[in-house]
Amino acid sequence: MEKYINPDSDGRFYALQDAVAANCHDCVGCSRCCEGMGDSIVLDPYDLYQFQKSRNLTFDHLMQRDYLGLTMRDGIILPHLKMTDNGDHCPFLTGQGRCSIHNCRPGMCRLFPLGRDFQGEDMEYILLENACSNTNRTDVTVGTWIGVEPEERYHAFVKDWHDFRRQMAKVLRSAGEEQAHELSLRLLHNFFVSGYDLSQDFYPQYEALAARYRSAFADMFSEV
Ligand code: SF4
Ligand code: SF4
Repeated sequence: MEKYINPDSDGRFYALQDAVAANCHDCVGCSRCCEGMGDSIVLDPYDLYQFQKSRNLTFDHLMQRDYLGLTMRDGIILPHLKMTDNGDHCPFLTGQGRCSIHNCRPGMCRLFPLGRDFQGEDMEYILLENACSNTNRTDVTVGTWIGVEPEERYHAFVKDWHDFRRQMAKVLRSAGEEQAHELSLRLLHNFFVSGYDLSQDFYPQYEALAARYRSAFADMFSEV
């Protein structure tokens, strides 16, 4: 099957080890991707783990500060970074236009100006060159640009989280309204609100949680 080509991209698909012209040199002088983003900076469980580990910021802290909003994707309730009311920018953006949580910024922020593509068997990456205003970007490997070690493990998690969400979306579609709402809230609680054991590695905790759901809905998941 021919793949869909995103019109904002350069038309190519990149693997984790491929070199890509994504290096916009720490976005010096530009904070376009941190402004006016609506509900598009959706967080995943790894982002919450990193917030908690690096800044002691839990889901509840972030909600109390009005830094998070909730959005619905395929029936699943997910947290997103909430733009400020007065400036329509990310609450972590400093007055100097820099990210104040650079070392634990979310996966979506690490990615830009790359995007993820899930059309093939493995996740690939695309370069959204028309969405980035820096015209002097240089080559860097995809994994280096994203900057989460070990690269392959993080890549596998992101792909799995995408697959898991797709599977859960199917479960939610087939459930009654009340049951779907309850399940969606439970997913939010388990993967985001309740937090993670910081003395343990993130991935086994995520995998155990996802496995519990996969086992509970095994019949339906095998048909996805
Ligand atoms: S977390 Fe940092 S990089 Fe991401 S949108 Fe906010 S300020 Fe920008
Ligand atoms: S438009 Fe490009 S240079 Fe500007 S913040 Fe986004 S990725 Fe960085």
